Amino acid sequence: MKSNFKTGKTDVLIIGGGIIGVCTAYYSARYGGNIVLIEKDNLASGCSDANAGLIVPGHSMPLATPGIIAKGIRWLLNPESPFYIKPRFDLDLFLWLWEFRRACQEKRMFKSMAYLCELNSASRILFDELAGEGINFFFERKGLLIVCRTKATLEAAIEEAKIKEKLNIPVNILDREKILEREPTLKNDIAGGLFFPQDAHIDCQQFVQAIAERAKAEGVKIMPQTEVIAWEKENKKIKKVITTKGDIEADQIVLAAGAWSSSLVKGLGLKLLVQPAKGYSLSYKKPETGPTIPMILAETKVAVTPLADTLRFGGTLELAGLDMSISQRRVEAIKKAIPIYLKDIKPQNLELIKLWRGLRPCSPDGIPFVGRTKKYNNLVIACGHSMQGVSLGPVTGKIVAQILAGEMPLIDITPMAIERYG
Ligand SMILES: Cc1cc2nc3c(=O)[nH]c(=O)nc-3n(C[C@H](O)[C@H](O)[C@H](O)COP(=O)(O)OP(=O)(O)OC[C@H]3O[C@@H](n4cnc5c(N)ncnc54)[C@H](O)[C@@H]3O)c2cc1C
Repeated sequence: MKSNFKTGKTDVLIIGGGIIGVCTAYYSARYGGNIVLIEKDNLASGCSDANAGLIVPGHSMPLATPGIIAKGIRWLLNPESPFYIKPRFDLDLFLWLWEFRRACQEKRMFKSMAYLCELNSASRILFDELAGEGINFFFERKGLLIVCRTKATLEAAIEEAKIKEKLNIPVNILDREKILEREPTLKNDIAGGLFFPQDAHIDCQQFVQAIAERAKAEGVKIMPQTEVIAWEKENKKIKKVITTKGDIEADQIVLAAGAWSSSLVKGLGLKLLVQPAKGYSLSYKKPETGPTIPMILAETKVAVTPLADTLRFGGTLELAGLDMSISQRRVEAIKKAIPIYLKDIKPQNLELIKLWRGLRPCSPDGIPFVGRTKKYNNLVIACGHSMQGVSLGPVTGKIVAQILAGEMPLIDITPMAIERYG
């Protein structure tokens, strides 16, 4: 089959060249056919670039947790807090916050957490398989430390550990001595923490490029600098996708446009509760003595990721729409957290390689939107992966490929239903 832009048809058109789009392309290529992936900028130019790269079958937590609303109200007044909502009148934001508040109920949070654990555990196995297939990307299986400075945070972490144990997730509770033994670069006044041995980490930008290369080798056509600007609809079908490089007709269309997905589907008369949630990362030249295990600094929610040549710190979550501006105060808040937890690591003494920001595509309950829509029979949506899009990349790609092929997905997709909010 041939891809014929303007005149002919594509079997599958994937919109978005982030981790979700390329994993979908890779797994779909196994079914053959004519697959095209289009990206408005370059591959991994959205949120799948300099994120923390953590793969978290253990630490599968949605943002919506019972205590977050009270904390959020306090944090709102503090420009250096881990969570911030830019005050504005926006009906979509209001609807999102409404559903977010509902998702914070304990029972619903447990349900989301259990489902995310299931998805993440399946994805973790797929990462192993991909590495075993000779796809070359930075991938380390060193686990993940949750580092708590205060006793109160440690007690909350121990509660999380008890739940995870019930979900059959291996987790070690560490006191001060044990956590310092495991990661000696931590300061002596740390209260303790958790260790999730199954968790792992990757360099997301490198992973996206490597998967895209393999997909290309298997026949997928990848078109950067190709932006979807409109749709042509006919009854229950998307007839044409109008792009900056011409019109495309496709049998099946996958929307994997991350934080941009909700604005894109407006032209289709669909509503997706996905809010862009900005986060930042600072990548420094790796110091000679620095942490070797990835960590989450619990009180500040800063992630620490040791990569091949860089040491990355990522954090903050800011609901400010699609605005990509950089708030220096929020960046400073990440920098401030580092010497509080880590001995001998002072950002002012490190060589900064890159300051980056990305928009997480956040759903209210932390569960992505994956599946077919009721309104269009040739549209599959795969977005809203919130804080876990890296971790959930392979499992999402595989599930979407199975949906496209008309097969039963490897995991029940009901909780990810597109229309779950009505
Ligand atoms: C600071 C930070 C740290 C993070 N750490 C982790 C972590 O440790 N573990 C984890 O699992 N997740 C993490 N995340 C979240 C993760 O990065 C995201 O969930 C994930 O990258 C989303 O992938 P995506 O493919 O859905 O979106 P994206 O990577 O944003 O890809 C969407 C693509 O669609 C393209 N696009 C948009 N509109 C159009 C259009 N009209 N036409 C064509 N193309 C279009 C965009 O240019 C973009 O490249 C982190 C995020 C941040 C900000």
